Amino acid sequence: INIHSTALYDAENSRMGTLIIFHDITRLRRLETMHKDFAANVSHELQTPLTTVKGFIETLQGMMPSNAPGSYEHFLHIIEKNVNRMVALINDLLALSRLERLQGTGVEFEHQDLATLIQGAVHACDSQMKEKKINITVECPDNASAPVDPLLMEQAILNLLDNAVKYSPHESRVNVKVTPKEQQIQIIIKDNGNGIAKEHLSKIFNRFYRVDKARTRNEGGTGLGLAIVKHIVQYHHGNVSVTSEKGRGTAFTLTIPA
Ligand code: ADP
Repeated sequence: INIHSTALYDAENSRMGTLIIFHDITRLRRLETMHKDFAANVSHELQTPLTTVKGFIETLQGMMPSNAPGSYEHFLHIIEKNVNRMVALINDLLALSRLERLQGTGVEFEHQDLATLIQGAVHACDSQMKEKKINITVECPDNASAPVDPLLMEQAILNLLDNAVKYSPHESRVNVKVTPKEQQIQIIIKDNGNGIAKEHLSKIFNRFYRVDKARTRNEGGTGLGLAIVKHIVQYHHGNVSVTSEKGRGTAFTLTIPA
């Protein structure tokens, strides 16, 4: 039940009483839960047929006769790429609905070593980094730690690193900097990439929002990466902010309680 109250005054401005409004939101909450369950169930159900399709693509690739027309291999490659894109999308949708369920559960986290966690994320985007010859540097004081869910926080940092590499030119630099403050820890992920124009900045954390739709689809993104980052950080009672300059680069700042 939502409760609102307000004081009531007469024409002489003397207090007459209080108006209290009770708003029963049970139905609304039930609908919200149904909606979330539906998204999670659909995503889950789609995983099984996609796994089968993936398996048969691999079988066909292995069975390809050496005299098969070149277009066969090319078409199979297109099917594989699109199936992989659907798998990534479903995984991200499932991750988001799990995070929605976790919000407000009041879990207490154990302290984790941040350098190890960041190295894990850097390691996970090693192949994209090498492909574009991008150098990722990490500045993290010894023994810097924070109470976090290690898998989720690594995922948030990985999503930001992945974007930094994706939206930066070849041979550029990406920097991760950890700064412990009194009550908080700040993690900044900064790139020298194409940047984001001001008018888009407030919207990029929305689901499926992309600055350049055609380009980012080609890059293989799902459009959910930053929405996931925002949910993970909120689950840790922190916040995420962004500053960017078109053509010069972007910096994402994660602030979490220490
Ligand atoms: P996507 O899967 O499309 O990358 P995200 O939610 O991760 O989805 O990001 C949303 C959009 O924000 C991207 O499509 C891109 O336009 C923009 N963006 C995110 N990170 C960066 C960055 N480091 N540099 C430039 N643009 C970025």
